[in-house]
Amino acid sequence: MNIILLGPPGAGKGTQASRLEETRGMVQLSTGDMLRAAVKAGTPVGLKAKAVMDAGELVSDEIVSGIIGDRLDELGAGTGVIFDGYPRTAPQAESLDAILTERGRSLDHVIELAVDEDALVERITGRFTCATCGEGYHDSFKQPKISGVCDKCGGTEFKRRPDDNEETVRTRMAEYRAKTAPILPIYEARGIVSRVDGMADMNDVAQAITAILDGR
Ligand code: ADP
Ligand code: AMP
Repeated sequence: MNIILLGPPGAGKGTQASRLEETRGMVQLSTGDMLRAAVKAGTPVGLKAKAVMDAGELVSDEIVSGIIGDRLDELGAGTGVIFDGYPRTAPQAESLDAILTERGRSLDHVIELAVDEDALVERITGRFTCATCGEGYHDSFKQPKISGVCDKCGGTEFKRRPDDNEETVRTRMAEYRAKTAPILPIYEARGIVSRVDGMADMNDVAQAITAILDGR
């Protein structure tokens, strides 16, 4: 099964993708994570992407579609994929169709996480992750069970993203509205879009997604 989690920054895509990895053995492909890894490693892609990401703008379609194709090639044909943060533009949606077809895959569901924009700034400015395993947390909504210790791996170092500040978030939301939300109709026309209330509790969101994937 191959699915897209679609929603603005802070909607909960990464949170839900990580749960699907645990519960269904699917693999999360987050272009944001891949780009951050490239920036950290100082690769040519990372060098090109850094300033664009820091500004909250979109990296070129060619770069992100290239890395998605490469990553898919590393996976077994039977591994289900969750696209998180990709596609973000109409050309990326077109590329994804070609990328999937070339690999004998198809798209089963596009799940839209619907969220109230005012809540997103609070979600994003309070977000932090485990520096060791990447597990996501939030200052108000999801603290580690033992303060300062990652629930998942026991790591004690945490980090915050440089682009998770209020000013950049506004640009990222504007990019979502202008370039990403308009791709929904492409998938609506195929009858594969489901809408989930992303303002609900994380567990309820996870349940709603499970129900969709199980065809309930
Ligand atoms: P995205 O991947 O869509 O940018 P994240 O999954 O990183 O969003 O979520 C952003 C922040 O909001 C994280 O700190 C996460 O812990 C928190 N969060 C995610 N889902 C919910 C929810 N349903 N209710 C409250 N907080 C949430
Ligand atoms: P994310 O982790 O999904 O919030 O993405 C962080 C940043 O990486 C975005 O603000 C963009 O600059 C860049 N990015 C991630 N995915 C894409 C994509 N599919 N297309 C263009 N830029 C992307």
